[in-house]
Amino acid sequence: MKSICVSILITLFAAAEALAGDTGPQPAQPGAETFTLGDFRITSLRDAVNVVPNDGSVFGADVGPKAVAEVLTKAGQTTGAITLSVDALLVRKGGEAILIDAGLGPTIPGALVSSLSLAGIAPEEVTAVLITHVHSDHIGGLVTKDGQPAFKHAVIRISEADWDWLHTQPAMAEITRVIAPQVKTFKPGEDVAMGIKSVRIPGHTPGHVGYMISSQGKTLLDVGDTVHSSIVSLAKPDWAMGYDSDLAVGEASRRGVLTKLATDHQLIFAPHFPYPGVGWVVSTKDHFEWLPKK
Ligand SMILES: [Zn+2]
Repeated sequence: MKSICVSILITLFAAAEALAGDTGPQPAQPGAETFTLGDFRITSLRDAVNVVPNDGSVFGADVGPKAVAEVLTKAGQTTGAITLSVDALLVRKGGEAILIDAGLGPTIPGALVSSLSLAGIAPEEVTAVLITHVHSDHIGGLVTKDGQPAFKHAVIRISEADWDWLHTQPAMAEITRVIAPQVKTFKPGEDVAMGIKSVRIPGHTPGHVGYMISSQGKTLLDVGDTVHSSIVSLAKPDWAMGYDSDLAVGEASRRGVLTKLATDHQLIFAPHFPYPGVGWVVSTKDHFEWLPKK
């Protein structure tokens, strides 16, 4: 299992892994911040952090590290690396406990199960896991360190296109085998759980989706990996993002989605924004800024 997990991480974080020291995925303290949305209880769950080097391989893949450094400096940040949070979301009502994304899993190790525990939920109480896309920082936590299903009573919902794509990746073969009996695929746009509808957001992976959560007229959109950095992704949405499987489609998606989010004043959860990752995208001239929910 260990070698499988290592392979998975190398697949996603090859650039970060190549640099020694304090880049790449790293452990974080558990965290569980809960708020209400209509009659749902929503909890942002902390899993890990990912320190991405500013070397032109991920952020600003088409403009280079100097241009990225200028944006970071303007925002008062250091310029050598960009620290991303890795978080997940829990949606509860009655006996339902729905997890959206499952974190990095045992290799780091991720803090997701500890964060769930802070929220009062044991892994076997999770009724469904909705996956935004099948990168390892979103599905790694679907298995335990012993290679067993981490949420054994949950249905796992994955878009058809991403489930097909996962089967083409040798490094993900073991996790794919373990979760297969629990997986139920869907077409983007379908309702996938109580009050939760999948929303197609193309570019990051073949079947990447967000999830619109609705209750009593209130809504929250989990945007998945439409955006990664609350600074760079919003200041320069048209720059190429090295994690996107289709760079051009990813750029167009990001600009389009951010424009709509700002226009609609839509509350969002962004799993890689600073924890807890809940707030609004605000439009300013030709770019966007992040307004965290207090
Ligand atoms: Zn991600």
